[in-house]
Amino acid sequence: MDKKSSQQKKAWRRPGSKPKKRKFQGKLPQDHEKDKSNTSASAQKLKKSKDTSFDVPVDQTAGYSIIHFFMVFTALQQYLKCKVCDKDVSFLKWGQRGLGFKILLTCDCGEKYIDSGPLISTGYEINRRLVYVMRLIGVGLSGINTFCGLMELGNGITSSTYYYIIDTISTAMQSVFDLAMRKSVNEEKLLNAARGEPEDVLTVSVKVPTVKTQDLTIKLMKELSTNYGLAIQRHPDSVEEMRREIWAGYYHKISTDEKPQHSYCSDSWCKYKKAVRDKTVKIFKHPPALAQDVQEILKPIYEDLTKQELLERCIGGNTQNNNESFNNCVWAMAPKHVFSGKIIVQIACQTAACIFNEGFKPVLKIMSVMGVKIGPTAIHYATQRDRERVRVANRRSTDASKEARTQRRNAILDENERYEEEEGTMYGAGIAD
Ligand SMILES: [Zn+2]
Ligand SMILES: [Zn+2]
Repeated sequence: MDKKSSQQKKAWRRPGSKPKKRKFQGKLPQDHEKDKSNTSASAQKLKKSKDTSFDVPVDQTAGYSIIHFFMVFTALQQYLKCKVCDKDVSFLKWGQRGLGFKILLTCDCGEKYIDSGPLISTGYEINRRLVYVMRLIGVGLSGINTFCGLMELGNGITSSTYYYIIDTISTAMQSVFDLAMRKSVNEEKLLNAARGEPEDVLTVSVKVPTVKTQDLTIKLMKELSTNYGLAIQRHPDSVEEMRREIWAGYYHKISTDEKPQHSYCSDSWCKYKKAVRDKTVKIFKHPPALAQDVQEILKPIYEDLTKQELLERCIGGNTQNNNESFNNCVWAMAPKHVFSGKIIVQIACQTAACIFNEGFKPVLKIMSVMGVKIGPTAIHYATQRDRERVRVANRRSTDASKEARTQRRNAILDENERYEEEEGTMYGAGIAD
């Protein structure tokens, strides 16, 4: 017997026989999202491609529906019979992972498993979609799980699944972002040529929002780790004092004129406390506080970094260490938050930059590179969004002779403002939880 027919035999079961076991012999749940080779390959292809359009293939069959599983399938059971054994069939929901699951169809012939939706490699497409789209509207893991839980959609996804998907998104995002950059550079060159200016003098606006926000994040992380190091160095013999001073830095930074929070601060470095001491606090103005979304990502980092056992290890002896090694220490100790925080900030910035320059098409492109099928509904939505944006800009534009590009930019700026009002987080760092 050759290899092929023995495999066939293994899969075949005598009609009417009951399956022996239903034990699932597969990967660990979180590993279904580990494989991002498809996305990496698509991203690589896109990077080499000369094509600078954001067109995506449209799958007319792509589409999801929310159904009440029990109600619908109990009704179907009333009507359906198996074509082979002519007996009743039953349906069960089985092996749920995120929003994906299998439908277990049982009749006298045995059991069959039907995927609730398409897979990308081994993961359900719907989960990648979910994570990306939620990211786009500023919702992270805990938000997703609240959504899934309260909507009776299952237990949501685990944190490792989430971070695998974030990694995939980041890969897809980077390639589409590069494409937007290439396109922008080409357009500037053409414009320069048309104006009779040197081709290479470029004013590529797409770079601005990205670099700025990333720099801000890195600066903040540096400041955080420096303060942390100093707090430990200043109090080599008391965990309590260390903790107090570390938190002082946090509350100091989120203080505003309306809500000063300097009770932990020392007047050796806190300007507010100094002002209190010098009785000039009435005219004291706080610098802009950390944005709400940044606060929310920093708080858990601070909580991790002020844990008893961690600070105990810093007692004594460590005064020799310079700031650099403290910094290394901080980065190493908070890898998950800092790492994912950075990637998530980057995804948000790059998405914002792409939308800023090209409208909503890059969003579809990113999804497509991730292996997600774009169907008629998503295309329709993106087209409507872009059309509306241009319409609003055209209406507001008083100077009819402005270049189309300027109009598009204005349209996108309007859109940005509207978005910031409506949804806040998307154009911020998008790290709402
Ligand atoms: Zn049957
Ligand atoms: Zn202070």
